[in-house]
Amino acid sequence: MPTATRVFNFSAGPAVLPLPVLEEAQRDLIALPGVGMSVMEISHRSKTFEDLLHKAQDDIRALAGVPGNYKILMLQGGATLQFSMVPMNLLGAGQTADYIDSGSWADKAAKEAKKVGKVNIAATTKGDNYSRLPEQPELKLTPGAAYVHMTSNNTIEGTEWTSLPAVGDAPLVSDTSSNMFSGPVDVARHALIYSGAQKNLGPSGVTLIIIREDLLARSTDALPVMLNYKIQAENDSLYNTPNTFGVYILGLTMKWLRSLGGLEAIAKINQRKAGKLYAEIDRTGFYRGTARKQDRSLMNVTFRLATEDLEKTFVKESTAAGFDGLKGHRSVGGMRASIYNAFPEEGVDALVSFMREFERRHG
Ligand SMILES: *Cc1c(COP(=O)(O)O)cnc(C)c1O
Repeated sequence: MPTATRVFNFSAGPAVLPLPVLEEAQRDLIALPGVGMSVMEISHRSKTFEDLLHKAQDDIRALAGVPGNYKILMLQGGATLQFSMVPMNLLGAGQTADYIDSGSWADKAAKEAKKVGKVNIAATTKGDNYSRLPEQPELKLTPGAAYVHMTSNNTIEGTEWTSLPAVGDAPLVSDTSSNMFSGPVDVARHALIYSGAQKNLGPSGVTLIIIREDLLARSTDALPVMLNYKIQAENDSLYNTPNTFGVYILGLTMKWLRSLGGLEAIAKINQRKAGKLYAEIDRTGFYRGTARKQDRSLMNVTFRLATEDLEKTFVKESTAAGFDGLKGHRSVGGMRASIYNAFPEEGVDALVSFMREFERRHG
């Protein structure tokens, strides 16, 4: 049984995948039913692969209610390539792009955009170590901005927007890499959404992009073809060979999400899972949540202990107890439990028990 040897994987990404997805992929790895070849051995121009891609796109459309005037792309280069592609395609000469600097990834996105054009940091919470999200009155938006860029979940710091900022008529671009499909998404309020797959959607090597069609007119022919949204959309993500295996696993993950009852259903599960963990963090003063309470992420739960020595002991003992990946990002320290969609609730329960027991011994 594969389950017998699986540990509780709290990795921030690449992260745990749903067991039914891995089992189906394992079952069909050598020969897809009715095809007689591995999904990795077939042409990306074959009907089999095109059907896989279209099924994944259809499931995404159904899950998130993606309006008809949006294209769904699956490209390579990770979310980080989107840090460049977004301004290269959308930020025209003489225009300004507004960036909401709510975390380390948001900061990286803004730095890449600055290489392409004019960037206004509409707000930053760097001075608070990104422990909170900027509030609406703090946003200094540029009238007529080319777009406003936000990061829906700050993976490293453990903060998450629960409602979208008001940005007027400006196109809203969101990096949703670490909470995509963890709950309902109001696609129509966005102009572009991008998400590296390896946290909540599938394996690394695929980036999901949902882009409103009118934005495609901004992509000029001067852009390299692989970095041109218009060309990628015209070719249905098949300008060149995509990550066929990654698209396949992402498709299986979308099918799994639909089988759970869709985004409302997964949101409830995620609220319950994170709720248990935050309740334990808040139960006594032994653990300390690092994010401002109203901004806490349901995906990345960040917390600290009284001393770095105690944190080291926590990492060591939790690893020995079968919990992997609880060490916080090297830039912030402390602990981070990443509990994405595929992370099993029994793993959260087990961690809560471990934390109690750890506190009893070290508190
Ligand atoms: C992980 C992450 C990235 C970087 O993703 P890559 O696919 O490795 O480029 C960007 N933004 C956010 C919010 C992330 O969590």
